[in-house]
Amino acid sequence: MRKVVKFGGSSLASAEQFKKVGHIIHADEERKFVVPSAPGKRDADDTKVTDMLYECYDLAEAGKDFKEQLRAIRARYQEIIDGLALQLSLENEFKTIEKNFKEKSGSDYAASRGEYLNGIIMAAYLGFEFVDAAEVIRFNENGEFDAETTNKLMRERLTHMEAAVIPGFYGAKEDGTVKTFSRGGSDITGSIVARAVKADVYENWTDVSGFLVADPRIIYKPEPISTITYKELRELAYMGASVLHEDAIFPVRREGIPINIRNTNAPEDEGTWIVESTCQKPKYVITGIAGKKGFCAVNIEKDSMNSEVGFGRKVLQVFEDSGISFEHVPSGIDTMTIFVHQDEFMHKEQKVVSGIHRLADPDTIEIEADLALIAVVGRGMKSMRGTAGRIFSALAHSNVNVKMIDQGSSELNIIIGVANADFETAIKAIYDIFVLYQL
Ligand code: ASP
Repeated sequence: MRKVVKFGGSSLASAEQFKKVGHIIHADEERKFVVPSAPGKRDADDTKVTDMLYECYDLAEAGKDFKEQLRAIRARYQEIIDGLALQLSLENEFKTIEKNFKEKSGSDYAASRGEYLNGIIMAAYLGFEFVDAAEVIRFNENGEFDAETTNKLMRERLTHMEAAVIPGFYGAKEDGTVKTFSRGGSDITGSIVARAVKADVYENWTDVSGFLVADPRIIYKPEPISTITYKELRELAYMGASVLHEDAIFPVRREGIPINIRNTNAPEDEGTWIVESTCQKPKYVITGIAGKKGFCAVNIEKDSMNSEVGFGRKVLQVFEDSGISFEHVPSGIDTMTIFVHQDEFMHKEQKVVSGIHRLADPDTIEIEADLALIAVVGRGMKSMRGTAGRIFSALAHSNVNVKMIDQGSSELNIIIGVANADFETAIKAIYDIFVLYQL
């Protein structure tokens, strides 16, 4: 068995946390490929090293003095090195970083140093080999991740290695220019490494024991999710469930490698398994609930629009021309509604309205703001009678007015549109009916 283990920033924020990580890795000799994040927050008021680096580099780019900020970053690493009693000096590394900052090497390079330096410390601490991600993770000239070249490079490099540390979050273009993924991107690196070494499991260690059925800021102590499929996770992650970077499933999905979300501070917890498919019955009909506020509905009316060929295309063309992506398009005989992100749409609304009039000639257009979308997700809903009925009667009992309903043909999720003000009440009502009363 081969396991790739990724540790998030809070798991590596201090020497104390590093020691926990060391125990976890040594407790299982299959944990051979380690992907660290940069040191995160040690407590709620602390600053992540990645943010310190961005800030420091902003000064450098503005031609201002950044010595003090760089010293503070160095102190974060020194505290870890001292706490682990390592004979390691980052003196030369910091000299290079200072020089490169002065030469304006870019904010991606700056941010990537967080993971790079933590990787060096981690490799020294574990006695594993260090592999610079810039050499094995490739971005193309346009800055897009090149999955196939990366897989080849990474596989060639790691296949015959016993054990290695590969820092998360960044890679490089062919000319060596460092490029990062979006924030939280070390999750993606872990997945890339797992694919490359054909791991049996990708363990993603963080500070929570996996996914919860609902957001704990809305539901008091929600139930954990023990197994979730990639598809279910995509739906929930898209709607805001944020334990794992939403792109992290793509590399492992190609190889059918399961991801296990684990808690560094509670390693005995089983965590959540993310799998391609499973015959394990979910504990509840629904696997999870997630949602987002801040949507707008554009209601378009035109008599008999459903029999007018090309009407929908013309309407969507206007959104495309304005560079606005749409979320959902429920439609009726004489109506069609487009759900869009309010902040994206707001500045362009009048242009869109006149554009639709010009192109599609509708009778009326009405805009409704401040809406929320809630996704009720679960493989257990498939072919299960009464799920939608239960959702809507629970919402009615809680006095929530449903503005929109959308069930994909996969029967994997039901999307419900409600007013922003009803968002929390609606999630609570759905959680209670499917989880609380089933316990
Ligand atoms: N350190 C980076 C961030 O703070 C990447 C990561 O932690 O995954 O976003």
